[in-house]
Amino acid sequence: ELKRLGRGYFLFYRKELASRQRRRMDLAFDVLSAGDNNELRLAYQPVVSVKDGRVESLEALLRWSHPRFGNVPPEEFIPLVEESAAINTLGAWVLNRACSDAMRWQAGEGRLPGVAVNVSVIQLRDPLFVQRVADILSQTGLPPSRLDLEVTETVFEPDNAERISLSLAALSAMGIHIHVDDFGTGYSSLSRLHALPIDAIKIDRSFVAGLDTGATAIIEGAILIARRFGLTTIAEGVETLSQAAALHRLGVDRLQGYFICHPQAAARLMPVAPDWLELPGSLLVGAPQEN
Ligand code: C2E
Ligand code: MG
Ligand code: MG
Ligand code: MG
Repeated sequence: ELKRLGRGYFLFYRKELASRQRRRMDLAFDVLSAGDNNELRLAYQPVVSVKDGRVESLEALLRWSHPRFGNVPPEEFIPLVEESAAINTLGAWVLNRACSDAMRWQAGEGRLPGVAVNVSVIQLRDPLFVQRVADILSQTGLPPSRLDLEVTETVFEPDNAERISLSLAALSAMGIHIHVDDFGTGYSSLSRLHALPIDAIKIDRSFVAGLDTGATAIIEGAILIARRFGLTTIAEGVETLSQAAALHRLGVDRLQGYFICHPQAAARLMPVAPDWLELPGSLLVGAPQEN
């Protein structure tokens, strides 16, 4: 009896494993033609200034609508693509599209918002990456100062040091802003944070969620470090008014999250950037509350 159950379970497990493996293989293969097949698009999520509610930039988030699997989240397919050189092609597609979209945004008044593009550490290791970015900027006409590249803390890992600091230095010298994404979740080295040309840190949304239980220490620490190094602070994953108010009180510079605005299709943004956004008044006016 047990033996039969065991074997049944084993068969089920093998089938499950096989179909998961199958999906991974299909996705890794199909993504190569996804761009040409019109299955990829970018959604944009604003990052706003706490000071005045201005849209500082819009982050491009990759969306893939697979003909059989439907919407596949980037957290599932990006790691698959990172296992091959395909990430370089996909990354170039994203950059190209994001920069040309950003060229179509119109400002009511004041500065145009920048566009933030997520970049894999594999792309940064590619010796051709910097030139590719320069080419895309000149082809689309986007000023480098309107481009933010979001990198993760993997750029701080010692085995990446050489190549990556060269690339980041070149990109920064062009006037592009370098932002560290998901700050606090990975390998952080204060000396590297200081040595590399970093402009901003994006405090990971897990710490923002922690505010609900009064866990402020990590965010306070991150803000302190950022101030000392002259970096801008951005909080990601802000979902509630109370989180936004707490971040405001702690002195974060910029906010991003569902509370402010969900990621939107590019077409919906065009006529409205940068001042369509309505922030709750409590965030816009007055000095930070005392606590
Ligand atoms: P990320 O760069 O940290 O982007 C933030 C993710 O959080 C996005 O998920 C966004 O939709 C989601 N998000 C935004 N506001 C909130 C909120 O208030 N609450 C919660 N729970 N989530 C929120 P998405 O679009 O699924 O992207 C996931 C990750 O995939 C990104 O994390 C980024 O690491 C990666 N990714 C997305 N697009 C690209 C790309 O073009 N290239 C590369 N290399 N990676 C990308
Ligand atoms: Mg990001
Ligand atoms: Mg992020
Ligand atoms: Mg994140």
